[in-house]
Amino acid sequence: MPAVQQLCSQLPKQAVGGPEALATPVKQFMSATSRMSVPTEQPDTAPPPVTKKSPEDFIFKEIIGEGSFSTVYLAKELKTGRQVAIKVCEKRHILRERKKDYVLREKEVMNLLNTKRKDSVPFFVKLYSTFHDAEKLYFEMSYAARGDVLQYIRRVETLDEECSKFYAGELLQAIEHMHSLGIVHRDLKPENILLSETMHILISDFGSCKLMDHVVPPSPSSSSSSLSDSGSSNPPGRRASFVGTAQYVSPEVLSDDLRRGRIVGPPADLWAFGCILYQFVSGLPPFRGPNDYIIFKKVLALEYQFPEGFLPNAQDLVQQLLKLEPTERLGASQAGDTYTSIKNHPFFNGVDFDTLYCQTPPKILPHMPGTTSEDMRSSMLQEDEGDDEHLQTGLDTKREMLLRVGSAGFSNGKKQPSPTPSATKSLKKGIMDFTMEERQERLVQQAANNSWHRFVDGNLILKQGFLEKRKGLFPRRRMFLLTTGPHLFYVDPNNMVLKGQVPWSSKLRTEIKTFKIFFIHTPNRTYYLEDTEGFALKWKDVLDEVYRYYFGDGA
Ligand code: ATP
Repeated sequence: MPAVQQLCSQLPKQAVGGPEALATPVKQFMSATSRMSVPTEQPDTAPPPVTKKSPEDFIFKEIIGEGSFSTVYLAKELKTGRQVAIKVCEKRHILRERKKDYVLREKEVMNLLNTKRKDSVPFFVKLYSTFHDAEKLYFEMSYAARGDVLQYIRRVETLDEECSKFYAGELLQAIEHMHSLGIVHRDLKPENILLSETMHILISDFGSCKLMDHVVPPSPSSSSSSLSDSGSSNPPGRRASFVGTAQYVSPEVLSDDLRRGRIVGPPADLWAFGCILYQFVSGLPPFRGPNDYIIFKKVLALEYQFPEGFLPNAQDLVQQLLKLEPTERLGASQAGDTYTSIKNHPFFNGVDFDTLYCQTPPKILPHMPGTTSEDMRSSMLQEDEGDDEHLQTGLDTKREMLLRVGSAGFSNGKKQPSPTPSATKSLKKGIMDFTMEERQERLVQQAANNSWHRFVDGNLILKQGFLEKRKGLFPRRRMFLLTTGPHLFYVDPNNMVLKGQVPWSSKLRTEIKTFKIFFIHTPNRTYYLEDTEGFALKWKDVLDEVYRYYFGDGA
């Protein structure tokens, strides 16, 4: 995400904090970085180890990420055999980009978070050591093996209630701990919430953090805790700088408050927490727009809506966090930075915050309106376990409806008895029953008469129709084109732009939910589709038929 920094200059009448001016002489920089080789896993009192690590102590295996001025590698430490992530920054690049403060602050904050305390929580990427050579700086960190939360949200589009509560709970614990240490993160977002091997959160990216001079609960007159402007060393009164990401940036960062010397404090992270919770539940952040300038305007006007199907308790909590006035955010005026008022909110009912870190995280599943979490959970978990006995006992309305249309299960040919070819044929001609000549003829007709032909790559359209495709909880009207291949293309009909296609494989599975709603499950994503005319079953039938034609009755 682009730094908010550059774009704020476009905002009319908003305070603009330019990049931190750093004409740092190279010599001074090198002496600062030479202090970087002190390992940090020790308690404060432990003596620093004598030997410094070097790149030769590791096997660099692969690149796992790239930042604006760094490359992150997965590496193996020779001595211990443990896997670590090593962030490598070019010294020249850092100097050129004036990122020295950023790098030093990241190290300072990670050291602070590593300091063992009774109330420590293990929700941060750990800094094991830092070292450097002539050209580069190295940060040896714990390896977040499961990527970041954003990639999971993209995959399932929304988190169900259990997941939202669990991951929002861990995030809140992490925020509480940072604030108790006087650290304001200022760039909390799903990309910066990494996941450990065991699927617990590991917050990362501490370069934008602020270190508070002293930790005080904000009062309405002071707006927020006292912070230095850039790390902990800026003279008081200097104008604050902008950091963060547009979708999660709090209004006080953008407002005239900065011009008046008012400063950004812990409530900025509570705002981001509200935005992230909104995104967990709905799939998208609350403030969206084609560019950052429009997003900023929406943030300042508190212009956002809750889509249909948003969890009511989560809605109430988000509303209490997304307050323009920082002191009015739930938890913001709480003494001692313990966010019990947030933890006691009904959304978190049943969450045991103190044991989250040792609980087994719930499997990440989507929140689908019209279905219960249990429904999704049992449906998807059964699939994972390879349980082909997908049929339920009893005869509730849904079951009855399915049986009426002759669909024996919730799934495609893989999980239901396949109709005998003769039985199918005797009833009607199958959708794939055409000769090569008929196909050619239909293609010629299609090219001449069907305005959607240009999107299907020369394939024959077997079925087409408008469906509401959900992006999270947000419906988007799309023209769906099921073709030979097989392919299932979808097009934005307003702009006549091909938006993508549902990937076919033998793992594709359809699931009917109501007369209007059906799902297509693929290994990486569940597509939530709605036929507002009520012919979801027809879509399912046709998709299943095409599936059987290409993949048989399943593996
Ligand atoms: P920017 O420098 O622009 O703020 P960034 O914060 O994403 O970007 P880095 O901190 O260098 O930059 O991280 C780059 C990417 O590397 C991250 O997006 C993340 O996917 C991955 N990454 C960073 N740290 C770890 C880690 N400890 N374990 C696993 N992956 C990591």
